[in-house]
Amino acid sequence: MAWRCSGLTNVELIENMSKNGLIKSARVRNAMKKVDRANYVLDKREAYEDAPQRIGHGATISAPHMHAHASEYLLTYLQPGSKVLDVGSGSGYLTAIFHHLVSPGDGQPAGKVVGIDHISELVDWSVENLKKDGLGPALESSQIEMVVGDGRKGHVAAGPYNCIHVGAAAPTIPQELIDQLAQPGRLFIPVGTGVQEIIQIDKDDSGRINQKRLFGVTYVPLTDQDKQRRSPH
Ligand code: SAH
Repeated sequence: MAWRCSGLTNVELIENMSKNGLIKSARVRNAMKKVDRANYVLDKREAYEDAPQRIGHGATISAPHMHAHASEYLLTYLQPGSKVLDVGSGSGYLTAIFHHLVSPGDGQPAGKVVGIDHISELVDWSVENLKKDGLGPALESSQIEMVVGDGRKGHVAAGPYNCIHVGAAAPTIPQELIDQLAQPGRLFIPVGTGVQEIIQIDKDDSGRINQKRLFGVTYVPLTDQDKQRRSPH
């Protein structure tokens, strides 16, 4: 079903995902419309395909329907003013969507989104992408912060986070990420080597943890920097 959602323009791509039920809420639809995927890919001719695309350094920008799913599952924790950590931020595309959800403007509270990736070239490129997409001011005001680091350790300096999204598959769930969840907070993480599935972990307001399996996926691994640099593409 997913591939039928491709469009000729960004708006068409998002509208098609809405029609097919992949985007369910107006908030996600509006946030995704504000982010032009052409600013976050290498091959602009395929920017509005509902398909993953290689972005170099062993990384991939996920298919837009995966970004829609992640946003929908995290939505109640992505309120104006919320703090978000996007682990494996890659192109910066999903970081931008999260930004529009937690800092919607119109006099509503502004949140903060930290994108973290361990490949410095990708972090530099994502900053350029965000600027092309009109988010220079958000970077200057630190509503968006892009950092180089090992996302398995999270990013303590800006935590705790209402939402932690992981864009690469971890062999096991890093305890540091659970520790850096706010009360309440939600972690969305692909887990597994070979067969992978999304695990959703909720921390409630008294700190209790609840874990749920969502659906099967295929992500690049959450790994060591040198291992990824040695990978074939
Ligand atoms: N959400 C991104 C996904 C990029 S692919 C996008 O759609 O553009 C997964 C990313 O995870 C890659 O950019 C890769 O460099 C990064 N990654 C893998 N292991 C990591 C680690 N240990 N720490 C931080 N980033 C990691």
